[in-house]
Amino acid sequence: MLDTMAIVPPEVLFRDPSLERVWTKVLVGERLDHADGMSCLQTWDVAALGQMADYVARRRHGDKVFFVLNRQLNPTNICVLDCIFCDFAARPKNDPRGYEMSWDEILAHVTGDINEIHIVGGLHHKWPYEKYVEIVRRIREKAPDLTIKAWTAVEIDFFAKIGKRSIEQVLEDMVEVGLDVLPGGGAEVFSQRVREALFKHKIGEQEWFRVHDAAHRMGIRSNCTLLYGHIETHEERVDHVIKLRDQQDKTGGFLAFIPLEYQVGTTKIVERQASAIEDLRTIAMSRLVFDNIPHVKSYWVMLGEQTAEMALNFGATDIDGTIGDEKIAHFALADSAAGHTTENLIRMIRAAGKIPVERDALYNEIRVHN
Ligand code: SF4
Repeated sequence: MLDTMAIVPPEVLFRDPSLERVWTKVLVGERLDHADGMSCLQTWDVAALGQMADYVARRRHGDKVFFVLNRQLNPTNICVLDCIFCDFAARPKNDPRGYEMSWDEILAHVTGDINEIHIVGGLHHKWPYEKYVEIVRRIREKAPDLTIKAWTAVEIDFFAKIGKRSIEQVLEDMVEVGLDVLPGGGAEVFSQRVREALFKHKIGEQEWFRVHDAAHRMGIRSNCTLLYGHIETHEERVDHVIKLRDQQDKTGGFLAFIPLEYQVGTTKIVERQASAIEDLRTIAMSRLVFDNIPHVKSYWVMLGEQTAEMALNFGATDIDGTIGDEKIAHFALADSAAGHTTENLIRMIRAAGKIPVERDALYNEIRVHN
């Protein structure tokens, strides 16, 4: 359970009685169960849901909403896997969409105006283990004070295989050259049914947790994600969140949970993007169910700026960052901007009635913009 501040609870006018049971538990600090999570995801009383989630967020962080001056770096999109929902990856051979960045291109992402670099990419069929280590090492050499968030659990597991090392040895090597934090990608949905249908060659739940468990036990913090809005059920969404909460009980290393909205793009697993109401329900449900993860992120790239701003009143306390030139969601035709200025992020946070706080990848506060 996280530390909380004394905040006066709002008067909530409930139109859906199933939420009253959730509110009673929230007020006394009792942990929510699966049925409560389902009530949050399926309610039509979205206003009451938002008030509850916003209260929980304010109890933890006051009116602060965090953001980061960052850049995303995807050194290659060439990937040996074939996840059905992915518009980013290119096949290893003869795929005209494939790219590999040169060292100059990689290092051009590192400039003095950012506090975090976020590195993820494809699983290249020819790059040796040492290349991935070298990417982190050269970035650290160029920017000694930058926080480096790099490589999903899928990549760490892949590096262990190609480098013939244990997960712990890979993490040790990466930390030695400069890695600070692991991003949360690659979790998708912890459901064997969904995995079989959409990403059967990718690591599953057990291996994903194995990497984050090892990282946390070595003192490396990480994030966690959920890919939603495709064929997963509401039950599977809540199961996923509760499995992450169980892991956090054991190792306590997650900094933020990031619900990633599936981008229909050209993969078209479903006809339409999840609605804004569905996004807000998912953010609020996760804020209410996670009593042990500090932040739920409103990822503007996938939600779109308007929904991302609304989510700051539905329990989200982080809006990611400036990003630079986002590729993964934009290869899937996301209609948000590819990057934002600091001023835009501050404006979005203030428009939601919150206080913008600049952070690094470890959520160290750099500047409060009040
Ligand atoms: S989601 Fe990741 S692992 Fe899967 S195909 Fe795309 S880049 Fe490769």
